[in-house]
Amino acid sequence: MTQAPHYPMYIDGEWVDAAERFEIIDPATDELVATTAKGIVADADRAVAAALRAHRRGDWRNMSPDERAAIMSRIVERLNEKMDELVDLHIAENGVTRKQAMAFHVGYSISHLQYFADLARTYEFEHTGPVLSYPTSAVGVVRREPIGVVAGIVPWNFPLLLAVWKLGPALAAGNCIVLKPDEKTPLTLLELAKAADEAGLPPGVLNIVTGPGETVGARLAAHPDVRKVAFTGSTAVGKEISKLAAENVKKVTLELGGKGPNIVLADADIEQAVDGALFAFCLYAGQACESGTRLLLPESRYDEFMDRLTARAAQIRVGDPNDFDTDMGPIISSEQKQRIEHYIELGQKEGATLAFGGKPLTGEQFEQGNWVGPTILGDVDNSMTVAQEEIFGPVLVVIKYKTVAEAIAIANDTEYGLSAGVWSVDIDAALDVARQIESGTVWINDWHMVNALYPFGGYKQSGNGRELGPHALDEYTEQKFVHIDLARKRE
Ligand code: NAD
Repeated sequence: MTQAPHYPMYIDGEWVDAAERFEIIDPATDELVATTAKGIVADADRAVAAALRAHRRGDWRNMSPDERAAIMSRIVERLNEKMDELVDLHIAENGVTRKQAMAFHVGYSISHLQYFADLARTYEFEHTGPVLSYPTSAVGVVRREPIGVVAGIVPWNFPLLLAVWKLGPALAAGNCIVLKPDEKTPLTLLELAKAADEAGLPPGVLNIVTGPGETVGARLAAHPDVRKVAFTGSTAVGKEISKLAAENVKKVTLELGGKGPNIVLADADIEQAVDGALFAFCLYAGQACESGTRLLLPESRYDEFMDRLTARAAQIRVGDPNDFDTDMGPIISSEQKQRIEHYIELGQKEGATLAFGGKPLTGEQFEQGNWVGPTILGDVDNSMTVAQEEIFGPVLVVIKYKTVAEAIAIANDTEYGLSAGVWSVDIDAALDVARQIESGTVWINDWHMVNALYPFGGYKQSGNGRELGPHALDEYTEQKFVHIDLARKRE
């Protein structure tokens, strides 16, 4: 048997090991994929110190945006060369299907990093304001300067992509960063570190510490030399991070959970809406924060829609994520699988009907690993726990509504506000609904269309701030006003 590879951490341009190791387990087979260093608080401190030294040294922040963009583009080139390896690593450590890994997990990671490299070239780092005339003629210059040391803490579901959403704007703006991946999915980030090293990123500008959230993650959030924390993960941990960061008045961006309402209007193209509803809750086995997990159907079309939805759900191929034809792979961990199963049972106890799935999958493939097939709970009331809490698995709850006003009220009756959808052939009607939904993203006749050109983030307890889009760098810069007196002359 060949030994599983070992990955050390990346701190100050060097590969650093730890006394203990994490085992990275394939969620489809329970096999050991690799081991990584189990970093400790002292490693977080070392990484922050390296980032601070790099920031003070100034070689990165004082480079022209064009030069920074050139190095970032070289990282993109290296990632492109490693594309197949990155896809395989995603499949092995996070269980995403090959098709989805290529399109979303790796495809988006590479194109979004390129977006941020390009944004460095066009972002307005400095501009003059209006000429002032009182008390003397003067003009102001507004500069956008890097914040300093940024910490990025990312979850297991889209490890590389959600790291790029922090690394990209941080580097483009001239910051230095410490990234902490989730314990279960560090491998693609360590490959990213290799790519950055090969591309000539100066030491200390990017550091990757692999360690537990409660110790290493919490230290990064609290560390006085970290001036900004960018976090993606659960709302519960997001609140902890906010509190820790507040002690030192750090800037914070949070991308947290969701319970996306998907509203089908009575005139919707039913085939399109059925396919869309499935795509909305089944991508990466429902382990995406912006999934569409609450389906709102008009009472008049409920039975017809449910018949077609359950018939199509039966065609979803669950199985080996390596196979290009597989639609849905495993759940990340056995704890997460148990959590999902608990919600499926709870929903039925609360009065929902099990319209599809919800039973253990049978077959040789499912004897190892963690599996839950697509599951649809019908006749759900929005006050039930399964309609209010994020399940983070392939479970859809279906709620009937009588009027569009009622549908909008149900959609907004949640503490979350990350994503939503509306299906209608009448774009005016759909836009009218979109305007009334409290959500950072609303898709009309589509789902999961996250685009680097547009902001992504949440209303209410789904988060603070926005990632992506032309203003993403605002969140990674300080503004400085420089006043120039035009009237005074030197004697
Ligand atoms: P999690 O909050 O448990 O973990 C996320 C990261 O935080 C991991 O790196 C973890 O090690 C670290 N962490 C854990 N405890 C910590 C602590 N006390 N201090 C500092 N860091 C800590 O989230 P998860 O279960 O891994 O991911 C699933 C959650 O992430 C879901 O709720 C999902 O909705 C959310 N999510 C949100 C988005 C978004 O963009 N809004 C995207 C993906 C996932």
